Amino acid sequence: MVHRISVPPVLRIGGGALAELPDTVRGLRASRAVIVTDAFLSGTGVAADIARALDAAGVPATVFDETVPDPTTASLEAGIRAVADHDADVVVGLGGGSAIDSAKALAVLAVRGGAMRELKAPVQYDGAALPVIAIPTTAGTGSEATQFTVITDSASGEKMLCGGPAYLPSAAIVDYELTLSMPPRLTADTGLDALTHAVEAYVSSRASGFSDALALQAIRQIGGSLRRAYADGGDAGARESMMEAATLAGIAFSNSSVALVHGMSRPLGARFRIAHGMANAMLFAAVTEFSLGAADARYADCARALGVAGEQDADAEAARALVTELHRLRAELAVPAPADFGIAPDDWEAALRTMAEQALASGSPANNPRVPSRGEIEE
Ligand code: NAD
Repeated sequence: MVHRISVPPVLRIGGGALAELPDTVRGLRASRAVIVTDAFLSGTGVAADIARALDAAGVPATVFDETVPDPTTASLEAGIRAVADHDADVVVGLGGGSAIDSAKALAVLAVRGGAMRELKAPVQYDGAALPVIAIPTTAGTGSEATQFTVITDSASGEKMLCGGPAYLPSAAIVDYELTLSMPPRLTADTGLDALTHAVEAYVSSRASGFSDALALQAIRQIGGSLRRAYADGGDAGARESMMEAATLAGIAFSNSSVALVHGMSRPLGARFRIAHGMANAMLFAAVTEFSLGAADARYADCARALGVAGEQDADAEAARALVTELHRLRAELAVPAPADFGIAPDDWEAALRTMAEQALASGSPANNPRVPSRGEIEE
């Protein structure tokens, strides 16, 4: 099997990396930038600071700050006009996964036209797109380094996974200082998202030595820093480690795959408006438990990287320790259960069939060590 490895050609990682944006834009030979972000980052003044820095570097920049969490096709409409009106030749995505995914979709639509629903999985889009520079402000999705964007179809409500080389950012600027303002809830949800990416990339049937190395390192770093970042958002060391881990995990799953947790969390998140990281966090322990026995040696490696099992432990025992730790993390980081989230049992039952259908259609469950039937997903 040939593994086609792709990584953003430019990666600038570390505290203060944001200052390297003008140099990065020049390196792409771009001349007019649109900064795609959200109202929060606009409110903090970061987007305007970036625009000023680009202007000063001779790259006129405009700010489009109307992206929304879990972006929809409708939310992209105004952005398409903003890119065209400014005649931009580079799109800077500043924010969490939602702003970066919006930037990626706009970069494709600006050149290709059409609608995102024409590009949902299993389509692999490798056509032309404007270059994207991704600047994450959460340590979770890894979108800054992946060849995916996730956009909800406003007409059908389906959360669509859209993939292909055209979505890989041309550059990622990964500066943990931008994550210092994350409150504990967002820190927990996005951190567990990154851990899910790393574990799913490692146990996926599409894993390679390349993705393994990055996934295990991400798991090690998350094991050492997620609880610290949650307890003290100002812990710079923990924030830096989490930010790097999220990007490592993003590259890992982008070159391997995600699996059953993600296949199920996308439709559940869309149906019940559950934040992406939280939806993964709700499912992670249970799905891992379901998969035990199918790849114990792989789950055992994850447990050892996370620091909850030792080399001397048998694989089955270490894999079980991983599940126990995921349940513990869910409790310590106060991840709600569906009932706590206000989902009535009737709604839950009604949503299960659609969830299972959309999960299977996305292709993600097929990469899981234990491939579930539709009935098993519903159960
Ligand atoms: P998000 O981008 O939806 O942001 C959630 C909230 O956090 C927003 O209100 C935002 O303003 C706020 N926020 C962002 N940065 C902040 C900061 N530093 N301080 C305080 N508040 C901040 O959250 P996310 O989890 O980063 O992204 C989720 C989206 O990413 C989902 O749509 C998911 O499907 C997608 N995703 C994409 C990929 C990919 O490879 N493209 C991978 C995983 C998830």
